Amino acid sequence: MSAMSPAPRRRASLVDSPLLDVEKIRQDFPILRREVRGKPLVYLDSAATSQKPQAVIDALVRYYTTENSNVHRGIHLLSEEATQEYEGARTKVQAFLNASSPQEIVFVRGTTEGINLVAGSYGRQNLREGDEIIISAMEHHSNIVPWQILCQEKGARLRVIPMNDSGELLLEEYERMLGPRTRLVAVVHVSNSLGTINPVEEIIRLAHRQGVPVLIDGAQAAPHLPLDVRKLDCDFYVFSGHKILGPTGIGVLYGKASLLDSMPPYQGGGDMIKSVTFEKTVYNDIPYRFEAGTPHIAGAIGLGAAIDYLSAIGLDRVAAYEHQLLEYGTERLSQIRGLRIIGTAREKAAVLSFVLDGIHPHDIGTVLDSEGIAIRTGHHCTQPVMARFGIPATARASLAFYNTKQEIDVLVRGIDKVFEVFS
Ligand code: PLP
Repeated sequence: MSAMSPAPRRRASLVDSPLLDVEKIRQDFPILRREVRGKPLVYLDSAATSQKPQAVIDALVRYYTTENSNVHRGIHLLSEEATQEYEGARTKVQAFLNASSPQEIVFVRGTTEGINLVAGSYGRQNLREGDEIIISAMEHHSNIVPWQILCQEKGARLRVIPMNDSGELLLEEYERMLGPRTRLVAVVHVSNSLGTINPVEEIIRLAHRQGVPVLIDGAQAAPHLPLDVRKLDCDFYVFSGHKILGPTGIGVLYGKASLLDSMPPYQGGGDMIKSVTFEKTVYNDIPYRFEAGTPHIAGAIGLGAAIDYLSAIGLDRVAAYEHQLLEYGTERLSQIRGLRIIGTAREKAAVLSFVLDGIHPHDIGTVLDSEGIAIRTGHHCTQPVMARFGIPATARASLAFYNTKQEIDVLVRGIDKVFEVFS
């Protein structure tokens, strides 16, 4: 079989966009200048982790070079400076999410830890036998397994909002599921394997009508969409620093102050206490109650730099530009005979998951790698999504604002090569 991939109709302005100066932006990302297997790197794996601009790398180097010291406890200048930077990063996250106060921002390791924190603290405190938690059919494993563990412990039940063949949630089914036993709804904002942007505002509104709190997994939304947790009115929102131009090992749990305040600690240790005796420990106020031990200081500072960088560009422009890329990529991939896009929701972020007739996704990934193209293949930590579509895996190209239409053309030529190799 051979792929039919005619040249794109619009040749002009493959890189330049009236929305963004992408050529200039790309110069901020040193890794994009490197070659892979003798070819220019085409990085289409930003859903797994984003690349880092020089400003973030510089912030890490500056911290370790000039300020390195522990936070919150020191009387000396370095510790004061590190504390100021660390807490400054919290304020940047607060502004980024439009949260009401820095108290509502808990630094965690990433989305996974944020969800585990809510399950282990809020969930443990509020779930009883026979209660229910609602998640969706397109959750990442990290928004499934912590709830399964909790349900097992409590004798509670996990319920799953189904989706249609395009990868859109069936909201009527969700509405029917919500009931007096529902204790929490935990839903992904943007699916990492399908790209679907879920109608989280509506999901939250319906849950709140029944007095049920909602956690939103924003791992794939925070890097791509403007966010406003107060407008969404979500109770918890989690995301990972490394997917939003920041370092690995740092992430954010946003929680409404009233909820966080009512929750017991998740881990015990230094910094999360006011006083300790062998008889009794008094826990610290939020957010410190949930930040036991020395935090990832450099990570938080790097995340602050990432937020500065992204905010200077503007999430509105990022989203609009990435949407153009998605439309272009969808059009080009749709013209390839033998290729099926998995995830065709009307509201989509820049994720292109696909399968090729008779060729295993891992083979696609290997051939593309030989062309310098980095994509991800596998189940993307969403095995139930793969089961829903009756496939073992997909090949996934995930785009960011530093990608170009030219790179999508390189991907299309790479897919032609895959067909050549395996025909
Ligand atoms: N949720 C979604 C939708 C994701 O895409 C990911 C990572 O790919 C996660 C959660 C887990 O993020 P992390 O591994 O950074 O904790």
